[in-house]
Amino acid sequence: MVNIKINGIDYQVEDNISVLEACRAVGIEIPTLCNDDRLQPHAACRLCIVEVEGKRGFEASCSLKVWDGMAVETHSPRVMKARADILDLLFSNHPEDCLTCEKSGDCKLQDYCFEYGVEKGSYVGEKKDYPVDYSNHFYSYDPNKCILCGRCVRVCSELQCTGAIGLEGRGFSTKVSTPFDMGLAQSTCVSCGNCVAVCPVGALMPKRKEKVRYWDMEKVKTTCSYCGVGCQMELLIKGDKVVGVEPADGKANNGLLCVKGRFAYSFVNHPDRLKTPLIKRNGRFEEATWDEAYNLIVDRINGIKADSGPEAFAGLTSARCTNEENYIFQKLFRAVIGTNNVDHCARL
Ligand code: SF4
Ligand code: SF4
Ligand code: SF4
Repeated sequence: MVNIKINGIDYQVEDNISVLEACRAVGIEIPTLCNDDRLQPHAACRLCIVEVEGKRGFEASCSLKVWDGMAVETHSPRVMKARADILDLLFSNHPEDCLTCEKSGDCKLQDYCFEYGVEKGSYVGEKKDYPVDYSNHFYSYDPNKCILCGRCVRVCSELQCTGAIGLEGRGFSTKVSTPFDMGLAQSTCVSCGNCVAVCPVGALMPKRKEKVRYWDMEKVKTTCSYCGVGCQMELLIKGDKVVGVEPADGKANNGLLCVKGRFAYSFVNHPDRLKTPLIKRNGRFEEATWDEAYNLIVDRINGIKADSGPEAFAGLTSARCTNEENYIFQKLFRAVIGTNNVDHCARL
């Protein structure tokens, strides 16, 4: 542990962590646009700047380690003014589209401009004017809304390990690009959407069929049903319809998803989907209640077991179930029915 003074108050914090982490550990929130705890510090957005006793300029708290005896100011008038200036510079080269932007309500730039009182960009001059890349099936990239935080590039290379995108150009001309600027559809992008999930503004956006606002959506945490890895996700629900998916932090997925979990959710709303059990009566499947279905299953299992013994059964389960469901399934067959005839579609 080291002793550190933050905003005039003494704290003991872990050694070898960043000033940003130390502040968060003691409940002091510092704004960031480029920081992601899973990635190497980048110090690009400069919003997390703080004043450090004995240092002349501002320091980026995400890339500065704590030391014993350090004294830090996180919300001094100078720091607040500098952060407002940074936001002003960002918004001066940004389309003022909040009224129609789909990201509105979930946009960090919008939130911080509100917090720091930046009403509009005060610097007049040339603005970025690039075509939007709609070439990917699942998401679009609008370079004009990009604030060059680099999170998408770093997630793609450091966590997703695809390296499909990079920052290209210098200064005013910098943008996120694909090799030879050929567009996302021609790149090695595997459409996992992990870059979309970390974009703090509306530059990378999922394509949706529905027009939705963030404040109209409810989030429901669940486990992805596409394979047995057990990735955690949040379904975005509007009314009684799933209109999107966002990755959630889980031990199996570290806040990442693959293309199936992230974008292939529309089957949930398909009219042919079974929503109740069906029981075959007189050669026709008829809708039944869960109680009717379970009672029938139990009766049939007991009857067959009495007539032919447990080896008359075989159970096949599915990779679309969670590991826990598969565990329970084999337990049912081995411990309750009494047979080891259990297998899984992954071995067909
Ligand atoms: S990205 Fe954010 S700040 Fe930019 S127009 Fe959209 S909501 Fe507004
Ligand atoms: S969708 Fe996935 S692979 Fe494609 S650019 Fe984004 S992070 Fe990289
Ligand atoms: S597209 Fe989004 S995540 Fe990527 S650099 Fe721009 S603002 Fe950051």
